[in-house]
Amino acid sequence: METVTPYKEIIDVIKANGGESFRFCYQCGLCDAVCPWNRVRTFSMRKLIREATFGLTEIEGDDIWRCTTCGRCPQQCPRGVKQIESGVSLRKIATEYGVFPSSVRSLRSVAGSLTGKGNPLNEERNKRADWAEGLSVKPFTEGMEILYFPGCYLCYDPRLKKVAVATANILKEAGVDFGILGSKENCCGESIRKTGDEELFKRLTRENIKIFIDNGVKKILVSSPHCYHTFKNEYPEFRVNFEVIHISQYLFDLINEGRLKISKEYGKKVAYHDPCYLGRHNGIYNEPRETLKKISGLELVEMPDSFEDSLCCGGGGGRIWMETPKNERFSDIRIEQAVAAGAQILATSCPYCITNFEESRLNKGAAEKIEIRDITEIIAESI
Ligand code: SF4
Repeated sequence: METVTPYKEIIDVIKANGGESFRFCYQCGLCDAVCPWNRVRTFSMRKLIREATFGLTEIEGDDIWRCTTCGRCPQQCPRGVKQIESGVSLRKIATEYGVFPSSVRSLRSVAGSLTGKGNPLNEERNKRADWAEGLSVKPFTEGMEILYFPGCYLCYDPRLKKVAVATANILKEAGVDFGILGSKENCCGESIRKTGDEELFKRLTRENIKIFIDNGVKKILVSSPHCYHTFKNEYPEFRVNFEVIHISQYLFDLINEGRLKISKEYGKKVAYHDPCYLGRHNGIYNEPRETLKKISGLELVEMPDSFEDSLCCGGGGGRIWMETPKNERFSDIRIEQAVAAGAQILATSCPYCITNFEESRLNKGAAEKIEIRDITEIIAESI
């Protein structure tokens, strides 16, 4: 393959995206010590930073695509280096040059699907609300209490549609006045942005913002921490400020306000996994756990690598769409940890985590030992 290494451009783009902080790096390697990649193979963020500082990054290689943007290394770095922003800017260069190693070629079809159909799964736009068939879910109209935005995976993926259905059933049970926008909405754009496709992110975002404003949306309920993160922290870059709430927070509120009653026992041992974009990136650790603790009979157990130190599932930063060899999946480690903690259920609150855990559960031959649930599904079974 022809080598494309635009040295000066690398330095310029990185500088423009927070990479100025690279020059503070003193190569201590603390980032590498916590990076989940080093639990399955070698990978050095420290080395990537060193090379990028001098414009020597091989943008045609695999390394710039590895980071899952899990947020572990910025947390540890004593020098305030912005590893995520700068890593994304390297991907921007590769995207602009159209340089994709074979492991990430799928990104092209994902981008095509997002452009043409508003979702990364190449599903038809007019089927976006099919998950709600027979549930009497209303289209969102101005004045409703809340817009429920399930996100692409919950709208289309057969496993995750169950989470959307569970959510709708809970909202109806609690008497929440909610609606959906169905085929009018697009992917939130969070993950494609982390692959460096800023133009596509902006396009999806502008269209979503227009739809929200045209329909009088004020408060948005989301199931995915990725939708949560971008609506709350990135859409304000477009001078809008919608009130955003994640389902784990909303369930906690509904139960505390007496709008939702837990009436059934759930006699199982449950381990809760903190999704990176709910926990580390947005500080939501307690509401999901406190919600689960409200269920009688449920025993909550903790795994190693939890709360701020949570082990990434491997799906962030657009990695959900990239090829990860079977022996390099962080989610396999999580399954082992959950089984070792004696859990019968590994619960979480993110569609990427559920996708990766369901696959690892089968890969690790643990189908008989453990099941994967969104906390919404557990609550739906307990009301
Ligand atoms: Fe550089 Fe920070 Fe990593 Fe240390 S932890 S090598 S200072 S980026």
